[in-house]
Amino acid sequence: MNSRLTVCRLTAFFAVFVCIGAAMAGQQTDKTAKRLALAKARLHNLLVAQPADPAPWREVLDDFLALASSPLADRALFLAGRTAEYQAERSPEMRAKAALLYQRLADRLPDSRLADDALFRLAELTLRHGDRRAAARLFTKLVVLFPDGDMAPHARRLLEQLRRTAQTEKRPFPPKQKVAVTDIRHGSTAYYSRVVIETAGPVRYTGDSLPPRGDRPQRLYLDLTPARLPPRLAGATPIGDGVLARVRAAQHDRDTVRVVLDVERLSDYAINTLQDPDRIVIDVWGKRPAAASKGERCATPPSLAEQLGHTGARRIIIDPGHGGRDPGAINRYGVQEKDITLRLAKRLAAYLERQQGYEVHLTRTCDTYIPLEERTAIANRLRGDIFVSLHVNAAASPRLAGIETYYLSLAETDDEKRAAAAENAAAEGTLSDIEAILRDLMLNSKITESARLATIVQRHLVHTLAERYPAVQDLGVKKAPFIVLIGAKMPAVLAEIGFLSNPVEARRLTDDQYLQAVATAIAQGVTAYAGTTAEQLGLAPPRRQRPPGAGG
Ligand SMILES: [Zn+2]
Repeated sequence: MNSRLTVCRLTAFFAVFVCIGAAMAGQQTDKTAKRLALAKARLHNLLVAQPADPAPWREVLDDFLALASSPLADRALFLAGRTAEYQAERSPEMRAKAALLYQRLADRLPDSRLADDALFRLAELTLRHGDRRAAARLFTKLVVLFPDGDMAPHARRLLEQLRRTAQTEKRPFPPKQKVAVTDIRHGSTAYYSRVVIETAGPVRYTGDSLPPRGDRPQRLYLDLTPARLPPRLAGATPIGDGVLARVRAAQHDRDTVRVVLDVERLSDYAINTLQDPDRIVIDVWGKRPAAASKGERCATPPSLAEQLGHTGARRIIIDPGHGGRDPGAINRYGVQEKDITLRLAKRLAAYLERQQGYEVHLTRTCDTYIPLEERTAIANRLRGDIFVSLHVNAAASPRLAGIETYYLSLAETDDEKRAAAAENAAAEGTLSDIEAILRDLMLNSKITESARLATIVQRHLVHTLAERYPAVQDLGVKKAPFIVLIGAKMPAVLAEIGFLSNPVEARRLTDDQYLQAVATAIAQGVTAYAGTTAEQLGLAPPRRQRPPGAGG
């Protein structure tokens, strides 16, 4: 009896206490809201009056900052940022202040609905003051972290604009000694041709297309300067693939090497530079007959309702590398990485779904271009449990062969840097830009889990393939800053399933049996990984689990 009474009293005591607490908190919030409204009104008055005196602006800024630890911190920080930003043109100090406040809001209150707005304001502020690279990093971060936020479409649009500007613009280069051209080569497929100019170091270039004149065809030309052309590379090399007729190279004057591409049919072209080794890559797209494009339309991504429909199964996101205007690696026979990765992805998806009962999504299901950061965004949006990006290697030496699996981190060896540079080529910016984004987002990445997933997938790949194919080389688990893995909120790996530049592996990569073996190996690796995670986390194995081989 007594004890029950005590419980009652205690309950009553706590109820009163909770009520008082709630009332106090309510009053507090009320008071905060009033102070915020007051500061907003003052800001409004300033915007109308536009006083030149910085003092009243600072006062309003301080009013907002006084609420930076309140329950309305996100709104206070955002409005403080806005106040400082209004003064950014007049005062570098206020500009820095605005940037700092937006950064703080985005970093410390990532769940606030204003976090993406803050990041967007920060990116735009950065862009307005001329740092396009830093702005591109911030827009990328926004797209990856807040793929469904209302600012994401604007960030995507601005990123695309920045990318286009960077591609068409000549990059400033310090004058240097003449750089030797070391190789000029080409590869092609139907409607597509790539010419690569390899140089002994970075070299400045200008390029343009010239319309057909008289009996001279349409041409693309590149002037490299200061550069020199060894005699063995001078002259014309016929191509005749339906896109390009030939490529010609000559020492145009003392300091300039001119490379001319005589065009047969051209619809578009792009010029990019890559490092390790330094090279200029000219991608040329021909005209595709209108009838051929029929039936190639891409399936639309699943609706949110569809996505939310399957919550029981564990979700795997498969990313077939490259696509559309980004072919990835190409070998001398015109085999393109983007085609191999898509074929493999479809096999892997089928195996994971039918044999192992996973829910699987592909970042692309046809030959379409998807920016690298968008792929991670898709995985985050779909709340994938595991992200696997599929790629094919290429190297300058045809002897290099083997299989390697990467997870996201800073590159340490030259090989790791080379792989990252090649796979990141479709994005704007240099490796150091990407490393900067990575440092920024490192805390959000599941690096330990990704390393474990990479280890298990690599082990399965090597064992399964070595049983069926001679001389399968294990290049091991590696780490590198791949943009496609940055910002993924789930364990994420990138598998390089062979070298297109190696004759033996190139043959395998175009063989469906090999791709099926690779798909099986990766699927089993994923299952092995998911099994141990499930045990560790005390979670059930995937729904609809069936023994291997029982599927239809
Ligand atoms: Zn690739």
